[in-house]
Amino acid sequence: MTKMNFFVQRSELRDLYDKVAAGERISEADALRLFESKDLNALGAIADLARQKKVGNRASYIINRYLNYSNYCILSCQFCSFARKKRDADGFELSIPQMVEKAREALKLGITELHIVGGLHPSLPFSYYVDFLKALKALDARLQLKCFTAIEILHLAWLGKRSVEQTLIELKDAGLVSLTGGGAEIFRKEVRSAIAKGKESAEEYLDVHRTWHKLGGRSTCTMLYGHVETLADRVDHLRQLRALQDETHGFVGFVPLPYQPEDNDIPVTTPPTGFDSLRTLAISRIYLDNFDHITAYWVGLGLKLAQVALSYGADDLHGTIIEEHIFHMAGATSPQLQTEAQMLKAIREAGRTPVQRNTFYEPIKVWDDAAASAEDGSTSGKSKMLEDNLATA
Ligand code: SF4
Repeated sequence: MTKMNFFVQRSELRDLYDKVAAGERISEADALRLFESKDLNALGAIADLARQKKVGNRASYIINRYLNYSNYCILSCQFCSFARKKRDADGFELSIPQMVEKAREALKLGITELHIVGGLHPSLPFSYYVDFLKALKALDARLQLKCFTAIEILHLAWLGKRSVEQTLIELKDAGLVSLTGGGAEIFRKEVRSAIAKGKESAEEYLDVHRTWHKLGGRSTCTMLYGHVETLADRVDHLRQLRALQDETHGFVGFVPLPYQPEDNDIPVTTPPTGFDSLRTLAISRIYLDNFDHITAYWVGLGLKLAQVALSYGADDLHGTIIEEHIFHMAGATSPQLQTEAQMLKAIREAGRTPVQRNTFYEPIKVWDDAAASAEDGSTSGKSKMLEDNLATA
Protein backbone atom coordinates (compact mmCIF):
# COMPACT_ATOMS: atom_id res chain seq x y z
CA MET A 1 0.00 0.00 0.00
CA THR A 2 1.26 3.49 -0.88
CA LYS A 3 2.32 5.61 2.07
CA MET A 4 0.03 8.63 2.19
CA ASN A 5 1.75 11.91 1.54
CA PHE A 6 1.48 14.41 4.41
CA PHE A 7 0.00 17.07 2.13
CA VAL A 8 -2.98 14.99 1.07
CA GLN A 9 -4.02 13.56 4.43
CA ARG A 10 -6.43 16.39 5.16
CA SER A 11 -6.77 17.78 1.67
CA GLU A 12 -10.04 18.24 -0.23
CA LEU A 13 -8.26 16.32 -3.01
CA ARG A 14 -7.68 13.19 -0.97
CA ASP A 15 -10.26 11.12 -2.87
CA LEU A 16 -8.38 11.86 -6.10
CA TYR A 17 -5.12 10.78 -4.50
CA ASP A 18 -6.83 7.52 -3.57
CA LYS A 19 -8.06 7.08 -7.15
CA VAL A 20 -4.56 7.56 -8.57
CA ALA A 21 -3.06 5.28 -5.91
CA ALA A 22 -5.58 2.61 -6.93
CA GLY A 23 -4.62 3.03 -10.60
CA GLU A 24 -8.01 4.44 -11.57
CA ARG A 25 -8.41 6.94 -14.37
CA ILE A 26 -9.68 10.39 -13.36
CA SER A 27 -12.60 11.99 -15.20
CA GLU A 28 -12.86 15.39 -16.88
CA ALA A 29 -14.87 16.62 -13.86
CA ASP A 30 -12.03 15.45 -11.60
CA ALA A 31 -9.49 17.27 -13.77
CA LEU A 32 -11.52 20.48 -13.56
CA ARG A 33 -11.70 20.11 -9.79
CA LEU A 34 -7.93 19.83 -9.71
CA PHE A 35 -7.60 22.98 -11.82
CA GLU A 36 -9.95 24.87 -9.51
CA SER A 37 -8.20 23.79 -6.31
CA LYS A 38 -5.70 26.11 -4.61
CA ASP A 39 -4.05 23.18 -2.81
CA LEU A 40 -0.92 23.05 -4.94
CA ASN A 41 0.99 20.90 -2.45
CA ALA A 42 -1.65 18.16 -2.50
CA LEU A 43 -1.92 18.40 -6.28
CA GLY A 44 1.84 18.06 -6.55
CA ALA A 45 1.78 15.03 -4.26
CA ILE A 46 -0.81 13.30 -6.46
CA ALA A 47 1.17 14.09 -9.61
CA ASP A 48 4.37 12.91 -7.98
CA LEU A 49 2.72 9.61 -7.11
CA ALA A 50 1.49 9.21 -10.70
CA ARG A 51 4.97 10.05 -12.03
CA GLN A 52 6.65 7.61 -9.66
CA LYS A 53 4.28 4.81 -10.67
CA LYS A 54 4.82 5.51 -14.37
CA VAL A 55 8.56 6.16 -14.72
CA GLY A 56 10.17 5.70 -11.31
CA ASN A 57 13.00 7.93 -10.20
CA ARG A 58 14.49 8.90 -13.55
CA ALA A 59 14.33 12.30 -15.23
CA SER A 60 15.53 12.84 -18.75
CA TYR A 61 16.93 15.42 -21.15
CA ILE A 62 18.08 15.34 -24.77
CA ILE A 63 21.11 16.83 -26.47
CA ASN A 64 19.48 18.46 -29.47
CA ARG A 65 19.57 21.47 -31.74
CA TYR A 66 16.70 23.57 -32.97
CA LEU A 67 16.79 24.55 -36.61
CA ASN A 68 14.28 26.87 -38.30
CA TYR A 69 14.52 26.65 -42.07
CA SER A 70 12.50 29.83 -42.61
CA ASN A 71 10.24 32.25 -40.77
CA TYR A 72 8.25 33.28 -43.84
CA CYS A 73 4.63 32.29 -43.35
CA ILE A 74 1.45 32.75 -45.34
CA LEU A 75 -0.59 32.84 -42.10
CA SER A 76 -0.67 35.49 -39.37
CA CYS A 77 -1.67 33.71 -36.16
CA GLN A 78 -2.45 36.38 -33.57
CA PHE A 79 -0.16 34.92 -30.90
CA CYS A 80 2.82 34.38 -33.22
CA SER A 81 5.89 36.61 -32.99
CA PHE A 82 8.02 34.41 -35.23
CA ALA A 83 6.39 34.67 -38.66
CA ARG A 84 7.44 37.24 -41.24
CA LYS A 85 6.29 38.26 -44.71
CA LYS A 86 8.61 38.46 -47.70
CA ARG A 87 8.64 42.26 -47.42
CA ASP A 88 10.02 42.14 -43.84
CA ALA A 89 13.69 42.91 -43.39
CA ASP A 90 14.22 40.22 -40.74
CA GLY A 91 12.69 37.38 -42.69
CA PHE A 92 14.99 34.49 -43.54
CA GLU A 93 15.18 31.17 -45.34
CA LEU A 94 18.07 28.76 -45.24
CA SER A 95 19.47 26.96 -48.23
CA ILE A 96 20.06 23.22 -47.85
CA PRO A 97 23.87 23.71 -47.66
CA GLN A 98 23.33 26.25 -44.86
CA MET A 99 21.19 23.77 -42.95
CA VAL A 100 23.74 21.02 -43.46
CA GLU A 101 26.49 23.28 -42.14
CA LYS A 102 24.55 24.11 -38.98
CA ALA A 103 23.79 20.43 -38.47
CA ARG A 104 27.42 19.45 -39.05
CA GLU A 105 28.58 21.90 -36.38
CA ALA A 106 25.94 20.66 -33.94
CA LEU A 107 26.89 17.02 -34.52
CA LYS A 108 30.38 17.87 -33.30
CA LEU A 109 28.71 18.99 -30.06
CA GLY A 110 27.13 15.57 -29.56
CA ILE A 111 23.53 16.20 -30.61
CA THR A 112 21.34 13.18 -31.29
CA GLU A 113 18.35 15.12 -32.61
CA LEU A 114 17.58 17.99 -34.94
CA HIS A 115 14.25 19.63 -34.17
CA ILE A 116 13.17 21.43 -37.34
CA VAL A 117 10.15 23.66 -37.89
CA GLY A 118 9.38 26.75 -39.93
CA GLY A 119 6.57 28.96 -41.15
CA LEU A 120 4.27 27.99 -44.01
CA HIS A 121 6.60 29.17 -46.74
CA PRO A 122 4.80 30.65 -49.77
CA SER A 123 6.97 29.21 -52.53
CA LEU A 124 9.59 26.60 -51.55
CA PRO A 125 8.78 23.40 -53.47
CA PHE A 126 7.97 20.04 -51.87
CA SER A 127 11.32 18.72 -53.09
CA TYR A 128 13.14 21.24 -50.81
CA TYR A 129 11.78 19.49 -47.71
CA VAL A 130 12.50 15.98 -48.97
CA ASP A 131 15.98 17.01 -50.06
CA PHE A 132 16.92 18.67 -46.78
CA LEU A 133 15.81 15.60 -44.82
CA LYS A 134 17.94 13.38 -47.06
CA ALA A 135 20.94 15.71 -46.87
CA LEU A 136 20.78 15.90 -43.06
CA LYS A 137 20.29 12.16 -42.69
CA ALA A 138 23.32 11.58 -44.91
CA LEU A 139 25.50 13.39 -42.36
CA ASP A 140 25.02 10.67 -39.76
CA ALA A 141 22.52 7.82 -39.98
CA ARG A 142 22.05 7.94 -36.19
CA LEU A 143 20.88 11.57 -36.22
CA GLN A 144 17.16 11.67 -35.44
CA LEU A 145 15.11 14.17 -37.43
CA LYS A 146 12.11 15.47 -35.51
CA CYS A 147 10.41 17.88 -37.84
CA PHE A 148 7.26 19.75 -38.79
CA THR A 149 4.08 20.66 -36.98
CA ALA A 150 0.73 19.32 -38.18
CA ILE A 151 -0.06 22.55 -40.06
CA GLU A 152 3.26 22.30 -41.91
CA ILE A 153 2.33 18.78 -42.98
CA LEU A 154 -1.03 20.04 -44.29
CA HIS A 155 0.81 22.84 -46.09
CA LEU A 156 3.28 20.42 -47.65
CA ALA A 157 0.46 18.11 -48.72
CA TRP A 158 -1.26 21.04 -50.44
CA LEU A 159 2.02 22.22 -51.96
CA GLY A 160 2.97 18.79 -53.23
CA LYS A 161 -0.60 17.92 -54.36
CA ARG A 162 -0.50 14.74 -52.29
CA SER A 163 -2.70 13.25 -49.60
CA VAL A 164 -1.54 13.74 -46.01
CA GLU A 165 -0.74 10.04 -45.84
CA GLN A 166 1.35 10.07 -49.03
CA THR A 167 3.13 13.23 -47.83
CA LEU A 168 4.04 11.56 -44.57
CA ILE A 169 5.18 8.38 -46.35
CA GLU A 170 7.57 10.37 -48.56
CA LEU A 171 8.94 12.42 -45.66
CA LYS A 172 9.41 9.24 -43.64
CA ASP A 173 11.29 7.63 -46.51
CA ALA A 174 13.53 10.72 -46.63
CA GLY A 175 14.48 10.39 -42.95
CA LEU A 176 11.73 11.88 -40.79
CA VAL A 177 11.36 9.91 -37.54
CA SER A 178 9.06 12.09 -35.45
CA LEU A 179 6.60 14.93 -35.91
CA THR A 180 6.85 17.80 -33.45
CA GLY A 181 3.87 18.57 -31.24
CA GLY A 182 3.63 22.27 -32.02
CA GLY A 183 0.46 23.94 -33.23
CA ALA A 184 -2.07 22.20 -30.99
CA GLU A 185 -2.67 25.53 -29.16
CA ILE A 186 -6.12 25.02 -27.57
CA PHE A 187 -8.51 22.78 -29.46
CA ARG A 188 -11.83 24.53 -28.77
CA LYS A 189 -12.94 26.24 -31.96
CA GLU A 190 -13.79 29.64 -30.45
CA VAL A 191 -10.41 29.93 -28.77
CA ARG A 192 -8.61 28.74 -31.88
CA SER A 193 -10.20 31.36 -34.04
CA ALA A 194 -9.38 34.04 -31.46
CA ILE A 195 -5.67 33.22 -31.35
CA ALA A 196 -4.85 31.40 -34.57
CA LYS A 197 -7.40 32.25 -37.22
CA GLY A 198 -6.79 30.34 -40.42
CA LYS A 199 -4.84 27.58 -38.76
CA GLU A 200 -5.87 23.94 -39.00
CA SER A 201 -8.82 22.74 -36.92
CA ALA A 202 -8.43 20.48 -33.90
CA GLU A 203 -9.69 17.59 -36.02
CA GLU A 204 -7.06 18.27 -38.68
CA TYR A 205 -4.26 18.49 -36.07
CA LEU A 206 -5.36 15.21 -34.51
CA ASP A 207 -5.85 13.55 -37.88
CA VAL A 208 -2.30 14.37 -39.04
CA HIS A 209 -0.93 12.78 -35.87
CA ARG A 210 -3.34 9.82 -36.18
CA THR A 211 -2.22 9.18 -39.77
CA TRP A 212 1.44 9.44 -38.76
CA HIS A 213 0.95 7.04 -35.85
CA LYS A 214 -0.80 4.54 -38.11
CA LEU A 215 2.25 4.61 -40.39
CA GLY A 216 4.32 3.56 -37.36
CA GLY A 217 5.58 7.08 -36.65
CA ARG A 218 5.82 8.69 -33.24
CA SER A 219 5.25 12.28 -32.15
CA THR A 220 4.82 14.60 -29.21
CA CYS A 221 1.89 16.91 -28.55
CA THR A 222 1.43 20.24 -26.84
CA MET A 223 -1.05 22.66 -25.29
CA LEU A 224 -0.52 26.42 -25.33
CA TYR A 225 -2.05 27.70 -22.08
CA GLY A 226 -2.46 30.97 -20.25
CA HIS A 227 -4.05 33.26 -22.85
CA VAL A 228 -7.80 33.56 -23.51
CA GLU A 229 -8.84 29.97 -22.78
CA THR A 230 -10.81 28.80 -19.74
CA LEU A 231 -9.76 26.00 -17.39
CA ALA A 232 -12.55 23.89 -18.92
CA ASP A 233 -10.96 24.48 -22.34
CA ARG A 234 -7.70 23.02 -21.02
CA VAL A 235 -9.52 19.94 -19.75
CA ASP A 236 -11.27 19.56 -23.10
CA HIS A 237 -7.89 19.79 -24.85
CA LEU A 238 -6.39 17.10 -22.62
CA ARG A 239 -9.48 14.94 -23.16
CA GLN A 240 -8.96 14.92 -26.92
CA LEU A 241 -5.27 14.06 -26.57
CA ARG A 242 -6.01 11.21 -24.14
CA ALA A 243 -8.64 9.83 -26.52
CA LEU A 244 -6.25 9.80 -29.48
CA GLN A 245 -3.55 8.21 -27.36
CA ASP A 246 -5.99 5.47 -26.35
CA GLU A 247 -6.55 4.86 -30.04
CA THR A 248 -2.96 4.94 -31.40
CA HIS A 249 -0.46 4.95 -28.50
CA GLY A 250 1.72 7.04 -30.80
CA PHE A 251 2.52 9.99 -28.56
CA VAL A 252 5.83 9.62 -26.73
CA GLY A 253 5.41 12.71 -24.59
CA PHE A 254 3.30 15.74 -23.76
CA VAL A 255 4.74 19.26 -23.58
CA PRO A 256 2.56 22.01 -22.04
CA LEU A 257 3.66 25.42 -23.35
CA PRO A 258 3.12 28.60 -21.29
CA TYR A 259 1.92 31.47 -23.47
CA GLN A 260 4.44 34.29 -24.02
CA PRO A 261 2.68 37.66 -24.24
CA GLU A 262 5.11 39.99 -26.00
CA ASP A 263 5.04 41.24 -29.56
CA ASN A 264 1.72 39.77 -30.63
CA ASP A 265 -1.93 40.72 -30.94
CA ILE A 266 -3.58 38.91 -28.02
CA PRO A 267 -4.64 41.16 -25.12
CA VAL A 268 -2.87 39.24 -22.33
CA THR A 269 -0.24 41.20 -20.45
CA THR A 270 1.41 38.65 -18.19
CA PRO A 271 2.57 35.12 -18.92
CA PRO A 272 1.19 32.24 -16.86
CA THR A 273 2.43 32.33 -13.25
CA GLY A 274 4.56 29.68 -11.59
CA PHE A 275 1.46 28.41 -9.78
CA ASP A 276 -0.45 28.04 -13.04
CA SER A 277 2.41 26.27 -14.79
CA LEU A 278 2.98 23.81 -11.95
CA ARG A 279 -0.72 22.92 -11.65
CA THR A 280 -1.01 22.51 -15.42
CA LEU A 281 1.97 20.16 -15.52
CA ALA A 282 0.69 18.24 -12.49
CA ILE A 283 -2.82 17.81 -13.89
CA SER A 284 -1.39 16.75 -17.25
CA ARG A 285 0.52 13.98 -15.50
CA ILE A 286 -2.51 12.84 -13.50
CA TYR A 287 -5.12 13.06 -16.28
CA LEU A 288 -2.96 11.80 -19.16
CA ASP A 289 -2.51 8.37 -17.61
CA ASN A 290 -1.72 6.85 -21.01
CA PHE A 291 1.30 9.11 -21.59
CA ASP A 292 4.66 7.98 -20.27
CA HIS A 293 6.42 11.33 -20.33
CA ILE A 294 5.54 14.87 -19.35
CA THR A 295 8.08 17.51 -20.33
CA ALA A 296 8.75 20.70 -18.39
CA TYR A 297 9.78 23.01 -21.24
CA TRP A 298 12.52 25.17 -19.76
CA VAL A 299 12.44 27.66 -22.63
CA GLY A 300 8.99 28.80 -21.55
CA LEU A 301 9.27 28.11 -17.82
CA GLY A 302 12.90 28.97 -17.12
CA LEU A 303 15.16 26.19 -15.88
CA LYS A 304 14.47 27.01 -12.22
CA LEU A 305 10.73 26.42 -12.49
CA ALA A 306 11.25 23.46 -14.82
CA GLN A 307 13.42 21.92 -12.12
CA VAL A 308 10.69 22.41 -9.50
CA ALA A 309 8.24 20.84 -11.95
CA LEU A 310 10.15 17.57 -11.55
CA SER A 311 8.34 17.34 -8.17
CA TYR A 312 4.98 18.19 -9.82
CA GLY A 313 4.65 15.35 -12.30
CA ALA A 314 7.26 16.19 -14.94
CA ASP A 315 9.98 13.66 -15.74
CA ASP A 316 11.77 15.43 -18.58
CA LEU A 317 13.50 18.79 -19.02
CA HIS A 318 13.58 18.80 -22.82
CA GLY A 319 16.91 19.62 -24.45
CA THR A 320 20.00 21.73 -24.89
CA ILE A 321 18.32 23.36 -27.96
CA ILE A 322 21.33 25.63 -28.80
CA GLU A 323 19.38 28.18 -30.87
CA GLU A 324 15.76 28.92 -29.96
CA HIS A 325 13.81 31.58 -31.89
CA ILE A 326 10.08 31.06 -31.56
CA PHE A 327 9.68 31.65 -27.81
CA HIS A 328 12.41 34.26 -27.64
CA MET A 329 10.86 36.36 -30.40
CA ALA A 330 7.72 36.26 -28.22
CA GLY A 331 9.59 37.62 -25.22
CA ALA A 332 10.95 34.57 -23.37
CA THR A 333 13.79 35.68 -21.10
CA SER A 334 15.38 32.27 -20.63
CA PRO A 335 18.78 31.71 -22.26
CA GLN A 336 18.81 30.26 -25.79
CA LEU A 337 20.58 27.09 -24.71
CA GLN A 338 21.30 24.92 -21.69
CA THR A 339 24.46 22.94 -21.15
CA GLU A 340 24.28 19.29 -20.24
CA ALA A 341 25.96 20.12 -16.92
CA GLN A 342 23.12 22.52 -16.04
CA MET A 343 20.55 19.85 -16.85
CA LEU A 344 22.38 17.23 -14.79
CA LYS A 345 22.67 19.56 -11.82
CA ALA A 346 18.99 20.49 -11.95
CA ILE A 347 17.89 16.85 -12.12
CA ARG A 348 20.23 15.62 -9.39
CA GLU A 349 19.25 18.41 -7.01
CA ALA A 350 15.63 17.34 -7.46
CA GLY A 351 16.60 13.86 -6.29
CA ARG A 352 16.26 12.13 -9.64
CA THR A 353 18.63 10.00 -11.65
CA PRO A 354 19.49 11.88 -14.85
CA VAL A 355 19.04 10.08 -18.16
CA GLN A 356 20.21 11.35 -21.52
CA ARG A 357 17.44 10.28 -23.89
CA ASN A 358 16.79 10.06 -27.61
CA THR A 359 13.85 11.50 -29.57
CA PHE A 360 11.57 8.67 -28.41
CA TYR A 361 12.47 9.26 -24.73
CA GLU A 362 14.51 6.03 -24.75
CA PRO A 363 17.64 6.09 -22.60
CA ILE A 364 21.02 6.71 -24.22
CA LYS A 365 22.92 7.12 -20.98
CA VAL A 366 21.80 6.62 -17.38
CA TRP A 367 23.76 8.79 -14.97
CA ASP A 368 23.48 6.39 -12.05
CA ASP A 369 26.01 6.34 -9.21
CA ALA A 370 28.53 4.30 -11.20
CA ALA A 371 28.36 6.64 -14.18
CA ALA A 372 28.55 9.67 -11.90
CA SER A 373 31.69 8.48 -10.16
CA ALA A 374 33.29 7.74 -13.54
CA GLU A 375 32.68 11.29 -14.66
CA ASP A 376 35.58 13.46 -15.55
CA GLY A 377 34.56 16.67 -13.82
CA SER A 378 30.86 17.00 -14.57
CA THR A 379 30.91 15.83 -18.17
CA SER A 380 32.44 13.25 -20.44
CA GLY A 381 33.19 12.44 -24.06
CA LYS A 382 31.21 14.39 -26.61
CA SER A 383 29.26 16.01 -23.81
CA LYS A 384 32.49 17.57 -22.54
CA MET A 385 32.97 18.99 -26.00
CA LEU A 386 29.44 20.39 -25.84
CA GLU A 387 30.17 22.12 -22.54
CA ASP A 388 33.41 23.59 -23.89
CA ASN A 389 31.84 24.80 -27.08
CA LEU A 390 28.76 26.23 -25.42
CA ALA A 391 30.91 28.00 -22.87
CA THR A 392 32.31 30.08 -25.70
CA ALA A 393 29.14 30.29 -27.83
S1 SF4 B 1 2.16 30.02 -35.57
FE1 SF4 B 1 3.03 28.94 -37.36
S2 SF4 B 1 1.37 29.04 -38.88
FE2 SF4 B 1 0.88 30.61 -37.35
S3 SF4 B 1 1.82 32.52 -38.15
FE3 SF4 B 1 3.32 31.56 -36.78
S4 SF4 B 1 4.64 30.35 -38.14
FE4 SF4 B 1 2.75 30.79 -39.28
